[in-house]
Amino acid sequence: MNRVDIKSKNLEELAALMETWGFPPYRAKQIFQWLHRGARFFDEMTNLPLAMRLVLQQQCEIAWAEIRLKRCSKKDETIKYLFRMNDGEQVESVLMKYHYGYSICISTQVGCKMGCSFCATGKSGFSRNLSPSEILSQVQAASADIGERISHIVLMGMGEPLDNYENVLRFLELVTFPEGMNLGMRHISLSTCGMVDNIYRLANEKLQLTLSVSLHAPNDEIRNKMMPVNKRWGLAELLKACSYYSNQTRRRISFEYALISGVNDMDWCARELAGRLKGILSHVNLIPVNDVTGTGYRKSSLERQKKFVSILESYGIPATVRRTLGSDIEASCGQLKRRYDREGGAADEN
Ligand code: SAH
Ligand code: SF4
Repeated sequence: MNRVDIKSKNLEELAALMETWGFPPYRAKQIFQWLHRGARFFDEMTNLPLAMRLVLQQQCEIAWAEIRLKRCSKKDETIKYLFRMNDGEQVESVLMKYHYGYSICISTQVGCKMGCSFCATGKSGFSRNLSPSEILSQVQAASADIGERISHIVLMGMGEPLDNYENVLRFLELVTFPEGMNLGMRHISLSTCGMVDNIYRLANEKLQLTLSVSLHAPNDEIRNKMMPVNKRWGLAELLKACSYYSNQTRRRISFEYALISGVNDMDWCARELAGRLKGILSHVNLIPVNDVTGTGYRKSSLERQKKFVSILESYGIPATVRRTLGSDIEASCGQLKRRYDREGGAADEN
């Protein structure tokens, strides 16, 4: 029997379940509150009658993200988690401390189908989508671990969020729900490699979240070599969708650009990029590429990074080089899991 994934349900669906099982509808809200306060077992739900808890236990499963590995950066307060889902699949999350509070970078899929050449997750292949409750459980488990509220979320871990559209949207509904964690939609960012059809869909939802688009190249020739998705939707189509998104939501788009020595970091790349972004409400986030074994890519030098920023700025495009947090703990997309899988769990445990 497939048990009900109860933490993925919204309040209306829970109320419908109560009806099916012959319980009064007001119980739905109580269960919802328990689940979103991080309850792991129905036995914890002490304001529910025992008989009801027994039915729930039989019919439902409560998703959780169990800490499998935890690595704390010695350079800053970044913590990297490898979480295990109920079925044994593992994903990564990275918790960062900023002056405004805690922010967590979470995964939306186990692996990824998109196959970007520079990405550790892309190299590990795809296993399955995460459910809304599994996406949420990463935030809950990290918050429980540090005993603090997490106020900001970035969907920038393993996987392509727009390739798991319905589950990601339900997650957003749950995590911003007043009776749940009540996070501000403006405190959430979603990063995509550029699945144009779903950028339009998302734009039409008119949510106040920040859209990050992983651009990494100023033209199709370079982008085709790095990101297979570009062969399906080229840069012109992608940037048109970005304009539409920012017009619909009045929000600035954040463009991610990993600087790779000799590949996409030349002066002319910065000029070409500036030309393409003209007229789009944007901000460019430059990231010195993280070394992933087997890619052969190298970080751009500090001078290159600075020059790239200054060229973009001279065209009126705001740009910053992203502070790389947790560089000593492989705190970037898929790196820890990849090592864990390769070394059969020999990466240091905590
Ligand atoms: N699939 C989504 C979100 C997850 S990837 C996306 O691609 O946007 C999160 C971010 O990490 C993306 O911007 C991605 O391009 C970037 N990234 C992946 N591997 C990287 C590496 N080796 N160095 C720097 N950035 C990397
Ligand atoms: Fe997938 Fe994003 Fe990695 Fe590309 S960069 S393989 S889309 S996770």
